[in-house]
This record gives sequence, C-alpha cells and structure tokens, in this order.
Amino acid sequence: MIQLISSKCSNGARLTMRLSALFWLRCLIVGLGCLRGEMTLAAEASRPNIVFLFSDDHAYQAISAYGDERKLLATPHIDRIAKQGMRFDRCLVTNSICGPSRACILTGKYSHKNGFYNNTNSKFDSSQTTFPKLLQGAGYQTAVIGKWHLMTDPTGFDEWHILPGQGVYYNPPMIHNGQKVKHEGYTTDLITDFSLEWLKKRDPSKPFLLMCQHKAPHREWSPALRHLGHQGKTPFTEPRNLFDDYANRGLAVRDQDMTIEKTFTELDAKLKTPGSLNADQKKVWDAYYEPLNKEFRESQMSGSDLVRWRYQRYMHDYLGCIKAVDEGVGRVLDYLDEAGLAENTIVVYSSDQGFYLGEHGWFDKRWIFEESLRTPLVVRWPGVTKAGQICDEIVSNVDFAQTFLEAAGVTAPSDMQGASLIPLLKGQTPEHWRKSFYYHYYEYPQPHRVRPHEGVITAQHKLVRVYAPEEPYFELYDRKVDPAEMKSFANDPAYAETVETLKGELARLRAELDVPAETPREAFGNAPLK
Ligand code: CA
Repeated sequence: MIQLISSKCSNGARLTMRLSALFWLRCLIVGLGCLRGEMTLAAEASRPNIVFLFSDDHAYQAISAYGDERKLLATPHIDRIAKQGMRFDRCLVTNSICGPSRACILTGKYSHKNGFYNNTNSKFDSSQTTFPKLLQGAGYQTAVIGKWHLMTDPTGFDEWHILPGQGVYYNPPMIHNGQKVKHEGYTTDLITDFSLEWLKKRDPSKPFLLMCQHKAPHREWSPALRHLGHQGKTPFTEPRNLFDDYANRGLAVRDQDMTIEKTFTELDAKLKTPGSLNADQKKVWDAYYEPLNKEFRESQMSGSDLVRWRYQRYMHDYLGCIKAVDEGVGRVLDYLDEAGLAENTIVVYSSDQGFYLGEHGWFDKRWIFEESLRTPLVVRWPGVTKAGQICDEIVSNVDFAQTFLEAAGVTAPSDMQGASLIPLLKGQTPEHWRKSFYYHYYEYPQPHRVRPHEGVITAQHKLVRVYAPEEPYFELYDRKVDPAEMKSFANDPAYAETVETLKGELARLRAELDVPAETPREAFGNAPLK
C-alpha cells in the first residue's frame, strides 16, 4: 500500500506519505500489541480456579448421589456437585491405598513410575514434576490443606497446612509451611476452616488451586461430637455378602486379615476412647458410648451377632465422619457462591480410593474388587459440564493431573500416563477412549495380608493375577452375571476365550505403561514376604 501511494506522488509528498504511512503502521503494531495484552488479561481472567475436595477412604456406597441400595446416609452437599455437574460411575484407582493414590494424582503416573508403592516404606520423591508445580509455574496460587501422607514435605504449593502422617481426629498437631502448630477442635471442621481462610486471603487477581484434603473417614472413624447418635434408632442395612464364606475364589481372598469378624479392634469398635480428645470432649464422647458399651459387654455377644453389632457400630462411626465432611463441602460451595467464584471454578469431590462397608465381611481397601477399586468422582464446571450428567466410561485418578493442566491451558508432560477428562466433561467421549484399565496393588503382608496382585478391568470383566508370595494364579470375574464378585470363572471352560483375550490385554497394558517384568522387592514394604 505504501508503494502504491508513493508511486503516484512527488518526492517531497512521497516522503511525507512515507512518514505518515510509517506512523500508521506503528500505530497498527502498537494497537495489536495492546489487543494482545488485553487478550492475555482476558485469558487470565477466564482460566478456571480448581477446588479439589478430597477425602480418605470414602466409599461411593456412602454418597447418596450414587444411589446405593442400602441408602446408608444423605450427603446433600456432595450430591449438589453431582446434580450441578457430572457423576463418574467408574472412576478406578491404579493402586487402592492412601499414599500411592495421592502420588498418582499429583504425578499423573502409576506407582512403578512415581516410586510410591505402599504406605510402609515408600517416600515421595518431591523433586518430581507434579500438576500443582506446573500450575504454580503458570501463575496459579496453590494450597494444600489437610491430609498429605506422602512422607516428604509438599512442593509446588504457596501454602501448605498438613497433618503429620495419618493425623488425628481431635485437636490435631499440624505443619503450617514447615512450622509445627497445634489446633483445638474437630479435624474435619478445622481443615474446612483453614481452606476457607486461605480462599479469603488469597490474591484475587490470580487463578487458584485449592486441595482441601480431609483425614476423614479413615480408620478409626471418630465422628464429631455433634454427630454421635446421628442415625437415631434405625439400624443400618447390612450388605448381602456380610457373611461371605470366600468359596469359589483363591487363597488370597480367603487368607486376608481385614474382616469385621477377626480384625476389628477395640478402638475400631469404640470400646476404647481415642486418645486425642480433651477432657471436655471426652465427657460428651463417653456419655454417648459408655452406656451402649456397658450394654454390649453385659450381652456377652459372639459369632454372627457380634459381627452384626460391630457392623452397626462401624457404620455409625464411619458415616458420622462423612456427615462432617459433607457439611464442610457445603460450606466451601456456599463460599464460592457468596464470593462470586462459582461460575469460574471447577469443583471436584473425590477420595483416594473406595472402601468396604461390610461387603465380603470386610472393612479397608486394597483389592481390585469393585468397592475398593472404584472411587467417587463428581465434578462441577459451569459452562463446560451440563448439570445432571452421568458418565460410565472408565476414568481414573491417573487422569486428574492432565485434566487440571488442560483446564488451566498448561501442556501436560508427555510421560504422564492418564488422559484429560475434559472431553468427557463436555459430554463427548473420544473415539479411542480406554476400554480396559490396568491395576496393581503391592503392599504385603502388613497391615492386612492382602497379596500383591495386578489385573485388567473392562466394562464387564476383571482378570486378576495374584503373584506373591506363592506361585502366581489367575482369577476371572464377570460383573454382569456376578456383580458382587463372589466367584472366579477362571477355570470355567465357557470363559477360556475371555481369559486368553484378557491375558493378551494385560500384556498389552503392561507394555504400554512400561511395567517392570519383576516387581522390585521394596514395593511390597519392609516385612519378609513369608
Ligand atoms: Ca485412603
């Protein structure tokens, strides 16, 4: 254009025109620069906040939005996230135990890649790349408040206020940005209080990641004083397989140490008072439990009556803990509404894994079976996820990191092993979404004598390989004909082809995920295997 103008003018006029054209060109460049600046600001404002509400050992059977047939309790606030967003019905963990699940979530990698195999001798290598570190590097404010349980200090967080180890339910010592502190009160309420305090004091000009991680409802399941006796006189419905005889399955299922019948302790049953209560709290506690305990002791109960009594006590305590978690979720949701943050904040509720609420006669987790393999996951993301959606695709805690990174516009490292859930959250299932999933549990023999096993899971089947300390053997479960997983079909000729196909799939997934041919000895923990 400059050439065109200049060719039609005299020299003097040409120079003027050239200068003028240069002026306008400069204006255009500056203008574009301003526009680009505005776009950056606009992008900054639109990057979503992430509130990750997390608990420890929260079974999906104990979330009313999941509609368990036992209807154990109402969780109106967690349900609110599901109603306003998406409920994932098959969120599977890679290794069903506390520390390993947390390490998997942070790194987007399986235990054999992030090095955190078990709760016995694993220590998290905090120099690894994690999604909070990447978000912090991209300008997010980051905080983790509550249970950490990875043996080394958190990295990648502007603020960390964590329980040492497992933590206690009452009056917890905590570590606040490296300083030991001691608090008075019920731990679940305090974790919510500190999370809200951080939300209120953060820099409002930046997007944020808050990981609010409850200790509850982890064993020994001590409820808040206000929830003692919460169920009234109505007994909790028992699971159909409370008295599983472990027939039709292998040695591992028979020879575990996690039954309500044999493994439940006096502290689990609250026949002992937890040590962390102060004198005033203990008075209220004992006023509830002591008369009931006296009645129990006088009854001299045994056999199936004893199991039934313990199940009722277990459900009272475990579900009581969840009531406080759910109330805390409600307080955080209310704050997001009041502060005008709800529209641009992804809210996630999940747990580090599922849990047995008496199914197979068990408490605890660890197994590839549905109750511990599946973890609750509900996500609310206004403007992206439509309200009231249900997703039954296989998703996993190994997907969380890549999901959060994509939401924040940060490229995920290529060695992360999951997949972003964002297409699913938008209601679109990618054509090549996973149809099978690899699972691997290691910790043995302490504390619950669950043998190391790996397996492949599909919508219908589960092929399990139990491989230590005895010779390996396979089991096959068919959830379509046997949803409670009470029988292995591995030796049934009618399933021979399915077994072979799934063995091939197991080998394919092992290769894809780069699982070592032999499990390193330290993965099992410190104790001798036999
Ligand atoms: Ca846990």
